[in-house]
Amino acid sequence: MRFKDSTLFSMLAIRCPRCHEGKMFPAGTLYHPAKFMVMNKTCACCSQPFEPEPGYYFGAMFVSYAINTAFFVAVWVALSVLTKEVTTAQMIAVLLIVVFGLLPITFRLSRVLWINIFVHYDLTAGKQKC
Ligand SMILES: [Zn+2]
Repeated sequence: MRFKDSTLFSMLAIRCPRCHEGKMFPAGTLYHPAKFMVMNKTCACCSQPFEPEPGYYFGAMFVSYAINTAFFVAVWVALSVLTKEVTTAQMIAVLLIVVFGLLPITFRLSRVLWINIFVHYDLTAGKQKC
């Protein structure tokens, strides 16, 4: 099995969960403040809808929560190891910088993780278009 056929590839490359070819988000919009949340309606390669029903990504909030919890723990461990004493204000400041700095990545990662739970890879999908 090639890496491109794995679900991990779809999640890390933020590609269509069905064909692993089409991009879920338009190119060049990751750190655009007004466009980082804009998502393609369907896959350009296999026509998989990226929002199959209204409110589909409600559950992605829980994935985002888990990702942010991992950031919190990582920041807490890093500050504890790197500095002798950390005040609460310093901890909050670093957490805010990390969480807001990584917000577009967390947003997209939580959505692609969520859709990969319900839409599975189809080896034959989208190969004729892309
Ligand atoms: Zn696709």
